[in-house]
Amino acid sequence: MQGNINVQTENIFPVIKKFLYSDHEIFLRELVSNAIDATQKLKALSSRSDFKGELGDLTVEVKLDSKNKTLTVVDRGIGMTADEVEKYINQIAFSGASDFLEKYKDVQENLIGHFGMGFYSAFMVADKVEIYTKSYTDAPAMHWVCDGSPSFTMEETKKEDRGTEIVLHIADDCKEFLEEQQILQLLRKYCRFMPVAIRFGEESEWVDSETETEEVDDGKGGKTTKPKRVERKKPRIINNTEPAWRKTPASLTADDYKNFYHELYPMNFEEPLFQIHLNVDYPFNLTGILFFPKIRKTIDPNRNKIQLYCNQVFVTDSVEGIVPDYLMLLHGVLDSPDIPLNVSRSYL
Ligand code: ADP
Repeated sequence: MQGNINVQTENIFPVIKKFLYSDHEIFLRELVSNAIDATQKLKALSSRSDFKGELGDLTVEVKLDSKNKTLTVVDRGIGMTADEVEKYINQIAFSGASDFLEKYKDVQENLIGHFGMGFYSAFMVADKVEIYTKSYTDAPAMHWVCDGSPSFTMEETKKEDRGTEIVLHIADDCKEFLEEQQILQLLRKYCRFMPVAIRFGEESEWVDSETETEEVDDGKGGKTTKPKRVERKKPRIINNTEPAWRKTPASLTADDYKNFYHELYPMNFEEPLFQIHLNVDYPFNLTGILFFPKIRKTIDPNRNKIQLYCNQVFVTDSVEGIVPDYLMLLHGVLDSPDIPLNVSRSYL
């Protein structure tokens, strides 16, 4: 199928690029959180027996291919049928540039400009985007391609695995997103506590060999043999799917809180004095852990100590104007599905 779309501007790129120009990097959070949502939806269907197939390994994978200049996000979630691609992907963008802008006009105020436009933020960094998707139902798999002009192609394709693969062909002026370290850093910033495992490449670990031995000094002037230490590659999982703030206080020890503190601030070697674990239902939903640091004589110039999340998705660590000033001394995380959080100001 081919579509021609009624848009007033020739090309949706300039619109999108202009939109969140300062915050290009959030595209990765948007795509990975879509992948996670699709996975969570499948899990929910499965737990209600609306999906009876095997879930299998649900790890979301981010793959970088610098040679072919692509960055790919793969999930094994619910996938999309042709109708769903039409409804959720085509209609939104191609309903006309002015509708598109209308739909997203609140983006700036909404989430203080930190939330993106979901899938379409891919066009901030890519000059062509492909979707390969296969629904958990037995609908045929689909391949969708769009180069940001107001036309796309969509046709049936062969895809064995259930779920969705989003392939970004990174634009020449965004080459930094083809660097492994850059992607790793972004994943650690935005996806560190997302609720489904996310894999990006491999990492090494050193283990005892099962077959090889080596001779070493026994410390008494003689020699002894022991298993050789060998390097082994394992998938690099970049997130902790069950961060402490999502657990009940009763299930956590004092050490668990300290460990979480160091997980949040690896460069901070001080121990916090104590913490409060928040779990608020009214007037809005909020969970979090706030740590009280030791008060220093010199004022700690480090800002950005409170991180804001929306359902385990990192939103921002610039919380000035969002949390009241007297809380700015604290460290920790606040997580609310009811973002925008600026409503919280009068309640905290
Ligand atoms: P939002 O996530 O805010 O709804 P998006 O533009 O990111 O907006 O996505 C639009 C819709 O496209 C999603 O609500 C979902 O139905 C569908 N979608 C996007 N990515 C995926 C995916 N990886 N798997 C299944 N469906 C997806």
